[in-house]
Amino acid sequence: MVLQQEDLGAEYYSLEREEILDRISSRKEELRDDVLILCHHYQQEDLFRFADLTGDSLKLAKEASAISDREFLIFCGVHFMAESADILASPDQKVLLPHLHAGCPMADMATVGAVSQAYKDLVSAGIIKDEKDMVPVTYVNSSAAIKAFVGERDGSVCTSSNGEKVLQWALGKGEKVFFFPDEHLGRNSAAALGVPDERVLLWRRGELLGGHSVRELQQAKVLLWDGYCEVHMRFLPDHVRQWRLKEPDIQIIAHPECPRDVVSIADQYGSTETIISAVNDSPAGSKWAIATEVNLVDRLRNQHPDKDIHLLASSPCQCTTMDCNQPVNLLWLLDNIAAGNVKNQICVDFKTAKLAARSLEQMLAI
Ligand code: SF4
Repeated sequence: MVLQQEDLGAEYYSLEREEILDRISSRKEELRDDVLILCHHYQQEDLFRFADLTGDSLKLAKEASAISDREFLIFCGVHFMAESADILASPDQKVLLPHLHAGCPMADMATVGAVSQAYKDLVSAGIIKDEKDMVPVTYVNSSAAIKAFVGERDGSVCTSSNGEKVLQWALGKGEKVFFFPDEHLGRNSAAALGVPDERVLLWRRGELLGGHSVRELQQAKVLLWDGYCEVHMRFLPDHVRQWRLKEPDIQIIAHPECPRDVVSIADQYGSTETIISAVNDSPAGSKWAIATEVNLVDRLRNQHPDKDIHLLASSPCQCTTMDCNQPVNLLWLLDNIAAGNVKNQICVDFKTAKLAARSLEQMLAI
């Protein structure tokens, strides 16, 4: 989803980096009783340094909701993360995104219209008798509307750290599972649970019955929506092999949004929090090649000069949409709050928020 970002004005475009950072510091101090700044691990250092809370999307949303005395939650992340924060925030809190073009292309690959149509087609083709026979699971990297669709059908959200657990729950609950929007997290989770490859099918958007025959779909256990993260898709099995040839004692750790052929030959895989803990807990002199967003890898390298830390790929793998949030956008947002103007608020309507919260609560119950 691309929203229209307001022009900042000439005054902001002419500011130098140091001036921007100084002015953010002053504004943050001035607004310290009203504003909480949340920052995802993939954000650049010049935003990260101002964070009151850092973490992955769900951790940030949950921690922020516990701090109810700040009126403004500025979420340095992408649109779906701000939506999750708004769903969990108290009614008088406002969630703001520094730049409205900071979206997640993967989340945008699953729309409610397309997902609803897929469900209808599966019923019409006689693959399931009722929509209830297909349990929906959505990765937290999805729109509030998709989370609501899942909540309305008694499905669950999952994260990159509990994908297997949630998928196992869903497989025990219904005949089949539909996993949105990330093919790779779904495939990696299904493989870890031992679901045979031939019973895991990729639902290709735009193709009749997702590109499969009725018979193939009848035999399937898990359908995967064909969404992907273009950042994590850039890591290849050849990168793993090249690092092992060069540094035989290197440890390879991959995020589960990476394709199966990378995750299956890595030494470990896990969420951003898992990657951070693995590196933090490793002894001095450890060597790591990490398959996730470059800002996090650079930060880990700077935090651990006693360890040899690399990005798994040779070219930068950066989340360019998250990078729409620049320090100058944060300054503009803070200046507006100080002037009494609320800009870039992300609001999830009451009905969507209620149903989406149901799918989040289901995950917490699992
Ligand atoms: S890294 Fe990938 S999944 Fe995460 S916000 Fe960016 S595009 Fe979306």
